[in-house]
Amino acid sequence: MSSLKNCHRLVVKIGTSTLTHEEGHLNLRRIEALVKILSDFKNAGQQIVLVSSGAVSAGVARLGTHRPTCTKEKQAMAAVGQSELMKLYSRFFSDYGHTVAQMLLTKDVIDNPVRRAAAEDTFETLLRMGCVPIVNENDCISTTELNFGGNDTLSAYVALVAHADLLINLSDVDGLYDSDPRKNPNAKLISRVDHIDDSVLQMAGGAGTARGTGGMATKLEAAKLVCEAGIPMFILNGKDPHVLYELLDGAVVGTYFAVKQK
Ligand code: GLU
Repeated sequence: MSSLKNCHRLVVKIGTSTLTHEEGHLNLRRIEALVKILSDFKNAGQQIVLVSSGAVSAGVARLGTHRPTCTKEKQAMAAVGQSELMKLYSRFFSDYGHTVAQMLLTKDVIDNPVRRAAAEDTFETLLRMGCVPIVNENDCISTTELNFGGNDTLSAYVALVAHADLLINLSDVDGLYDSDPRKNPNAKLISRVDHIDDSVLQMAGGAGTARGTGGMATKLEAAKLVCEAGIPMFILNGKDPHVLYELLDGAVVGTYFAVKQK
């Protein structure tokens, strides 16, 4: 199994439902705990890219308004929330001596070789400079034609473009179960997946929570994308970010998606 200890360049994705409280306000304790751990990993020599959702939710909470009902509202709320998010990340990371850099992407950047190469160069340069790139979809200009369809997919592309050794998807579930744990109390957690075939895809339930957009299906698609490109992925429950230390110490946690052996 690919170990976190031997991984030099790590992409960590955190979803809205993990970053925010039920009513949508940012969960400061959790964000601070995550930032402290990622800072510690950086201190130990790892390079970190953080893919963070939460812009729309943070914007809604900040404006004290309803959830967006149309694209224009979503874009406006994301613009408000993204700067809120970055302000917090910048403050927390600088408390531990690290510098953040914002990178906002849309799918057309990935699809265009010239722009993709520019993104690749920027990741490379930022990481060489010791920064922590914090990535989100550029929601304030993103439309259905341009978007990734959620940050699970975005995080997979980021892992590819940033040439990561490992992708960790911090979710609000412990990992992939053989059936929906919200409906079946006897559902079993699968600790390792070697091949994402139809039987695995069928284990994914429907969409995620009201606040986030993902679900298991988009996580499996992300896993397929990175594993085929030689990058393994974990799904871990991010409600306690200390699970990252457990993983570092060699514990069997979450679900590991192995790279297909050639
Ligand atoms: N980019 C969205 C946001 O920051 C989240 C998308 C997702 O959760 O998949 O609010």
